[in-house]
Amino acid sequence: MNRPVFRRQGILFVISAPSGTGKTTLCENLRATPDFIYSVSCTTRPPRAGEVNDVDYHFLTKDDFLSRVENGAMLEYALVHGNYYGTLKSTVKEALAQGTDVLLDIDVQGATTIRKTDDPMVRDSLVDVFIMPPTQEELEKRLRKRGTETEEQVQQRLRTGREESKLWPLYKYTILSGSMEEDLIKFRAIMRAERYLSRRLVINDASPASESP
Ligand code: 5GP
Repeated sequence: MNRPVFRRQGILFVISAPSGTGKTTLCENLRATPDFIYSVSCTTRPPRAGEVNDVDYHFLTKDDFLSRVENGAMLEYALVHGNYYGTLKSTVKEALAQGTDVLLDIDVQGATTIRKTDDPMVRDSLVDVFIMPPTQEELEKRLRKRGTETEEQVQQRLRTGREESKLWPLYKYTILSGSMEEDLIKFRAIMRAERYLSRRLVINDASPASESP
């Protein structure tokens, strides 16, 4: 028998975590690898210093954002800390159809919307991961160290974070956050296992595509 060649649909990795957990840095590290495409979200939040339009976010006016929602262009969207954030459906679905894995950094409301999707491709490809802050004190420390929020915003993010942390049992995987290296190792373990799930694989006799899923 010839050595089998597998192909598979892409996996939609959704990461949620309270603000300040280190999720953005984790996603930046993952983005630097060829393992996924990172879905750049749309937002009505103004850019922070150093943030680049179409790289960190698609920065939109509220009208532009809401007209995209109206047109059905968003896979999910949510109001987070007073601003709209949303994921473009086209980016995600095109990548999944091509067998490319997609990484989404979205809040717990967005993850809940995606879990309820009636789109079979999105539903079958979803792997949601919650990053749990080790303690509230550590979260507060990390949030302050970042220095990008006012005191009022810090307090709002801590309150939201406490509520968000209660939702971890809804996620397929939960990582208790440690150092950035530890979080990366844990996430990569999940990623590898998910890629070898038999139910995702199809034997591809026709194409000499990649041998490893
Ligand atoms: P930040 O303003 O700190 O970049 O992000 C604030 C929150 O919005 C984070 O929890 C982040 O995961 C979330 N977020 C970013 N993009 C999206 C998105 O496309 N959809 C949803 N629902 N949340 C998002």
